[in-house]
Amino acid sequence: MDYQTFFRTELDRLKAGGNYRVFADLERHRGAFPSADNHVGDAVRKVTIWCSNDYLGMGQHPDVIAAMHAAIDQSGAGAGGTRNISGTNHHHVLLERELADLHGKEAALLFTSGYVSNWAALGTLGAKIPGLVILSDALNHASMIEGIRHSKAERIIWKHNDLEDLERHLAALPADKPKLIAFESVYSMDGDIAPIRGICDLADRYGAMTYLDEVHAVGMYGPRGGGIAEREGLMDRITVIEGTLGKAFGVVGGYIAASADLVDFVRSFASGFIFTTALPPAVAAGACASIRHLKASSAERTAQQARVAEVRARLDAAGIPHIPNPSHIIPVMVGDAAKCKYLSDILMDRHGIYIQPINYPTVPKGTERLRITPGPLHSTKDVERLVTALEELWAHCQLSRMPMAAQ
Ligand code: PLP
Repeated sequence: MDYQTFFRTELDRLKAGGNYRVFADLERHRGAFPSADNHVGDAVRKVTIWCSNDYLGMGQHPDVIAAMHAAIDQSGAGAGGTRNISGTNHHHVLLERELADLHGKEAALLFTSGYVSNWAALGTLGAKIPGLVILSDALNHASMIEGIRHSKAERIIWKHNDLEDLERHLAALPADKPKLIAFESVYSMDGDIAPIRGICDLADRYGAMTYLDEVHAVGMYGPRGGGIAEREGLMDRITVIEGTLGKAFGVVGGYIAASADLVDFVRSFASGFIFTTALPPAVAAGACASIRHLKASSAERTAQQARVAEVRARLDAAGIPHIPNPSHIIPVMVGDAAKCKYLSDILMDRHGIYIQPINYPTVPKGTERLRITPGPLHSTKDVERLVTALEELWAHCQLSRMPMAAQ
């Protein structure tokens, strides 16, 4: 086989379909976010980031940065290996306590990312609990799907957020068969929210465990940033809460929080925990500072929600189509891969606005979009510039607008 030709042909195919991914070369500057430098060849230009998952700007927060500096000075750069071989750094212990407390659980376990935590936890539960059936929401994240697939457990996909369909599947299973319902709280591409209470009621009725990915909700919702389950008073009804330290908490890493025995079970059997180097102590210290801050302060959440409302209202007034949802994610619908990429390029090149195009396979073909995530550090002037640019582009490209009646 001519390997290089194969790689090039496949890449050319992606490019022809508008699905080739190009990432902006960005340099963030402490204190300046959401503004950043964009490197293009030898040139550098200023852009405003509108698609970051550092939703609250905590990656720039003075407490987080100070904690990371202090931990580097105290403990050095790396963790020194896997916890299995090199032991646990005390910063990991402190962070796991903080996370268990955040979710009202007995224990928590850290992983190197949210992806790894889903893959490892679902993979382990599915592989090790004899006869377990995993009932997985149709729109679950790739990391959950991969973990479930890897576990080789029996898998049932239920219609997205559809309690009737979930119940139909549960009712068809033998009562004594072990079951796990896996779902997310805030779905990251459409920004819709799961009916958590209804799912917990069904789990109780049919003797199932629940596994909730709160990756896009931790830090963001609930009086202490515990997520949607905290906001709705449901944390104690969820068997496993999974989250990330890399989005609203502004650092990197993932975790599960659950009963002490379940956490110990995953710690003892998950290869994705055992056989990989632990997070650097400074990362754990930064995440800990971020969580502590957001437990005590709702200022960032309040400011972020106000900015989201402002952007939505301005888009509505301009007739720019976006999916209405009860979360902080604003998907502006384009519906064509090439157009979506083109819009993103023009926004960047002519307006200094960075919004990464979201194309297949992240979303189904025909639902390509610009996913906007307003944050507390965007100004009203930033919003003005964003909406004016979108209005201009919508007119220039003759894209369809929302009918006035739907606004
Ligand atoms: N779960 C969901 C729903 C996600 O959207 C993502 C990433 O975007 C992850 C898990 C993975 O988290 P991380 O980015 O920390 O690996």
